[in-house]
Amino acid sequence: MKKHNFSAGPCILPQDVFKEASQAILDFNDSGLSILEISHRSKDFVDVMDEARNLALELLGLEGKGYKALFLQGGASMQFLMVAYNLLETKAGYINTGTWSDKAIKEAKLFGEVAEVASSKEANFNYIPKGFILPENLDYLHLTSNNTIFGTQIKHFPEVDCPLICDMSSDIFSREIDFNQFDLIYAGAQKNMGPAGTTLIVVREDILGKVTRKIPSMLDYQTHISKGSMFNTPPVYAVYISMLTMRWLKEQGGVKAIEEINNKKATLLYSEIELNPLFKGFAAKEDRSTMNATFSLTDGDLKDAFDAMWKEAGINGLNGHRSVGGYRASMYNALSMDSVGVLVDVMSELERKA
Ligand SMILES: *Cc1c(COP(=O)(O)O)cnc(C)c1O
Repeated sequence: MKKHNFSAGPCILPQDVFKEASQAILDFNDSGLSILEISHRSKDFVDVMDEARNLALELLGLEGKGYKALFLQGGASMQFLMVAYNLLETKAGYINTGTWSDKAIKEAKLFGEVAEVASSKEANFNYIPKGFILPENLDYLHLTSNNTIFGTQIKHFPEVDCPLICDMSSDIFSREIDFNQFDLIYAGAQKNMGPAGTTLIVVREDILGKVTRKIPSMLDYQTHISKGSMFNTPPVYAVYISMLTMRWLKEQGGVKAIEEINNKKATLLYSEIELNPLFKGFAAKEDRSTMNATFSLTDGDLKDAFDAMWKEAGINGLNGHRSVGGYRASMYNALSMDSVGVLVDVMSELERKA
């Protein structure tokens, strides 16, 4: 039986996408060939890459606005260094909202001065820092829109007069934002867009080419833009499944339509966390994520009982990250309202029994 999959990443994808993707392994587009054995220069695959790039821009409302979409390898972690390599000349600002920002800061420091403009470290990153003052003359400001581990999410993005860079790995395509305010967005596919193995980068072309250092071809965004993400062999299957997932999202009505469902799922779960005395939420209420809900039991003695109950109900992937503990329910686009309902029923049953 199919599990209710709350895994944080790699994570749930639409069932229809899995079906179509598995068929393409055996026979892609009735070609008599598997997608895994054809040239990435073949028309069949070039069409996939084109559609993937176009869908990404379309879903973000960024078509025809000077942005380019790329599908590269190395994960979001590679972007921690590529962003700095391509854009950091003297000084960049970073908002530290936990683990992922921390890692991005560490890489950027190899290339120039880093101003950690704000941080919520003193509270184990359970909120999003606000009201900070930006230093002048930053090459860019870097944000993490959703902290997958701590379950916090930026709801209001700062207005800045330097390029704005955002790691959207765990909430890309989950909610409507004015994406025009960003100059570079990146997202590892395996949280809300596809399987592990590719990373989406959406970049405004006119911010590139301004640093004085030499950049190796593979790490230079301009190389990949000029070659349409085909400078070297792309991760064909990961791009294909990401493309199918974006097609699926478009069929659902796009980002706006999925956001409504995501908000309903989050409201259902957070209401239970608030009303059920056996649970407490980790993240500050105004900053809590619609994608990753972090919570724990108020009475640790109930852990074995609760764990047995959710496993029995067919739920997978609820254990929290080791740096927070407790539980984390990841509710990405492909997770159904029904699955959230099953979890909430288990939580209220625990209260009835305890
Ligand atoms: C998972 C994650 C990353 C790291 O992604 P990789 O593709 O494993 O390098 C970076 N940022 C955020 C917000 C993430 O959730």
